[in-house]
Amino acid sequence: MFKQKTFIPVAGAILIFIASQIIIVTQVWRQREEVFNLKYRLVAREAVQEMMYKSGQSGFDRAYYIIDNLAPVYLLNIENASGNEDSVRISQDLISVVREVLLTDQEIVPSIKERFKRLGFKEDFDSEVVIKNLVLLTDEGIPQADALNPEENITASSDRHIFLNTFYGEGNFYRISFDYYIDIASKESQLLKGIMMTLLLSLFSLLALTVIFAATYRSYLNQKRLSDLKTDFINNMTHELKTPLSTISVAGKSLLMDAVISDREKIESTAMLIGKQTVHLNNLINLILDITIWEREQFRIKQKRCNLESLLREVADGFRNGCGTDCTFHESYDLRGAEGNLDPVYFHTMVSNLLQNAYKYSTENPTIELRATAEGDSVLIAVKDNGIGISREDQKYIFDKFYRVGTGDLHTTKGLGLGLYYVSRIAEAHGGNIIVSSKKGKGSVFTLEIPKI
Ligand code: ADP
Repeated sequence: MFKQKTFIPVAGAILIFIASQIIIVTQVWRQREEVFNLKYRLVAREAVQEMMYKSGQSGFDRAYYIIDNLAPVYLLNIENASGNEDSVRISQDLISVVREVLLTDQEIVPSIKERFKRLGFKEDFDSEVVIKNLVLLTDEGIPQADALNPEENITASSDRHIFLNTFYGEGNFYRISFDYYIDIASKESQLLKGIMMTLLLSLFSLLALTVIFAATYRSYLNQKRLSDLKTDFINNMTHELKTPLSTISVAGKSLLMDAVISDREKIESTAMLIGKQTVHLNNLINLILDITIWEREQFRIKQKRCNLESLLREVADGFRNGCGTDCTFHESYDLRGAEGNLDPVYFHTMVSNLLQNAYKYSTENPTIELRATAEGDSVLIAVKDNGIGISREDQKYIFDKFYRVGTGDLHTTKGLGLGLYYVSRIAEAHGGNIIVSSKKGKGSVFTLEIPKI
């Protein structure tokens, strides 16, 4: 995982980016909304003024007339009200009735709609009226003080409403001032259309940032894994090289000891031990050299026509002689004389690596099976063991260079993490492949598929 030190600034940067995108989009939305409101307000006002100018009417004349008829009735009711509560209820009732009258009996909406239509605007809108002041007048024209409480009527306070104008009206029995608002039905969709480009750009840059971040994170994890593997490899390699070297050094010293010099048999066995360890050392160095060369150039093998069964029997014999007495080893062949285009040396190394791993990664009484069958155009070579098995997660990586299960812990089994990488490269070079099927604690089966001729 990302170290906390790295994670906090990265997460912070992403959050800042997201926040700035949100701010940009809301700012653009607000600006557009202001322009939208202004545009509709100006056009609607113009429409109302034109109507008033042409008809000489206020646009609310019918409503004013109705209110003038209602006012004396309410005035009487308020005067006869039994208490304060009652008069408040009556005045609220009056305000809602007046509001309703102003909305239904106005004559400005058709003119506004017509103007909207003419200019290509969306003409659908709702109206809202907020009464600011309503005073009832007695027969003598004296205001009925404190009887009404219009503030409670303020409902058109949402952002959706566009303020059109404040209107003043007067009749024989009342005086009124009210604000008129319009609410354009398609306002949101129109605004959304307007900021679509900004929104898309914003989303796109967010998406791009997420993709870049994910890719960087992945590559960081890969780099980190590789660097951990390399460190591990260097430790393992030092350990692997040191063991034969110290054996050679001790054996060399012992050759100078009097007890050994005088004993020909001991000299011979020590010389043989030195020879064996030198070969081992040489093999290790060659393995590392081979892999370094493969890095730089195409992996080259010298192929020739070979009988698969006799090659496999040779490998199996070598393995049987080398593995411990505790090991039970079975072979079965159903190859019907199949031949392959193989490099015998690499092929030998590949199969014997699998057999050695099967032995290396078993705990008690290893039972190993080598089974080869000819199927269709290929030969399947399976190496099965009852060893420690490999978890599903580790199975993804075991064919990678330097990978060893349980990296970081002290390894009980020696190795460089190159064996299976080597096997998979050789299999590929022969036009084949290798797969693993394994369960932790239950054993593993490695199956090589090699094309036959
Ligand atoms: P090495 O044996 O040098 O560690 P390999 O490339 O041969 O490297 O194997 C990689 C890892 O795969 C080993 O470290 C081991 O954990 C796991 N592995 C390989 N073969 C087996 C097997 N037969 N059973 C269980 N684990 C295995």
